[in-house]
Amino acid sequence: MVKNVQLKIILIFTIITIILLTGVSLYFLHNVQNINTQIALLENKIELANQTKNLIEQGTLLTICSIAIFCFIVILIAFITAKVTTPMNKLISSAKRIAENEEGEISRQKNQIETILLHMTDGIIAFNMEGKIILVNPAATRLLRIMPEDDTFEKIFEKLDVEINMEKIIYLDNWTSSEERVTLGDKHINLFFAPLKEEDERPAGVMVVIQDITEHVKLDNMRKEFVADVSHELKTPITSIMGYADTLLEGEYDKQTQDKFLNVIAAEARRMAKLVTDLLALSRFDNNQVKQQKEEFDLGELVKKCQEKVQPQINQKKHQVECFVTANVPPVYADKDGIERVVLNILTNSIKYTKESGHIKIYVGFVYNDAYIKVIDNGIGIPEADLSRIFERFYRVDKARTREMGGTGLGLSIAKEILDRNNGSIDIKSEYGKGTEVVIRIPTVQDKNRI
Ligand code: ADP
Repeated sequence: MVKNVQLKIILIFTIITIILLTGVSLYFLHNVQNINTQIALLENKIELANQTKNLIEQGTLLTICSIAIFCFIVILIAFITAKVTTPMNKLISSAKRIAENEEGEISRQKNQIETILLHMTDGIIAFNMEGKIILVNPAATRLLRIMPEDDTFEKIFEKLDVEINMEKIIYLDNWTSSEERVTLGDKHINLFFAPLKEEDERPAGVMVVIQDITEHVKLDNMRKEFVADVSHELKTPITSIMGYADTLLEGEYDKQTQDKFLNVIAAEARRMAKLVTDLLALSRFDNNQVKQQKEEFDLGELVKKCQEKVQPQINQKKHQVECFVTANVPPVYADKDGIERVVLNILTNSIKYTKESGHIKIYVGFVYNDAYIKVIDNGIGIPEADLSRIFERFYRVDKARTREMGGTGLGLSIAKEILDRNNGSIDIKSEYGKGTEVVIRIPTVQDKNRI
């Protein structure tokens, strides 16, 4: 546009100059013609030749002057318009750039918001002042099971049995929200209602954020259960210790009865100590405070060492224990103390949960890149319904009986934690009344990728 103006001005001046030059040329020609007439009429050649020479000089001078003026004017105009138009041109192109950028920015932001809303795990619904949906993301539709006909605030929340008034939310202060909790099937859902406002603070509608808090509720319940379990587990031996201690203090008993009571007190105290040690171990795992000292070691040797440690219990229950170690099992690379703890727990369980004179077989072998330990007993077994839960903290098949046997219900959950941290695994198969098979796998040094 500005460039056109500049061109137009130059064009006008060019035309003016052409007219000027044409005028000068015509005037010059006219004079030459006059001279020719005079030549014919007066036949005074010398005089006329002089006049012609003069006129030619005048004409040349005039032409040169006109061209010089023309050039000067053109340069002047070009200079002036350039001065004026350069900043204007810059201004226009930057305005254009800003407009383009803004347009791009707006569509980029829109895309970003749409993508965020699409992939958000929390649901979002926005309603206008009439209560009609103006925006809803897939998470909201899924969490609140919104059907196409549920297109208003009232319909959606009436269906969920939430007593909430849109008016009340609209006139809430900025940054405040009202909260409701609903249960939909097995899901626990939190709803946050907040007012939507225009830039000038005029109310524009209501926004609802929907959060699935099922996992949170579950964890919270688990935490409560855990606290209850710990208190219960500690309370039982404490009650027992207090009871026997008081009985001993109150009466005169013979040496045999006293020993019996003292043995119960000692056993209960040991159980409490074990429980506290196990709880501390779990808490250290939970807080990631366990520094593992991984090293290379032979699994067969470790199993034999563990077997020696539990020999008194084996003897006490008159079990027959056989241990088979396959030759050439590659060494494993793991936290030796942790693995020892796992093996001791599995062996102790087999001993505890097998009736007297039972059979326990231990195999140490190697399959693919894992070394494994398999412990098979012909003990009481675990009912199928309980199998999936025995790795849970405090889970015991028969609470009363296992407690009698000195179990805390924490051994297998600790074993699982330890194996997870050593890239290993633990699997239990069992047939109720027939026996149990526990297999643990640990990567060997050959399997460097997993270590
Ligand atoms: P506990 O300290 O009670 O033994 P664990 O976590 O080691 O705790 O085991 C959880 C439960 O799994 C036990 O209480 C027991 O009911 C069952 N269990 C574990 N090993 C065996 C087994 N070899 N035979 C039968 N039941 C078992």
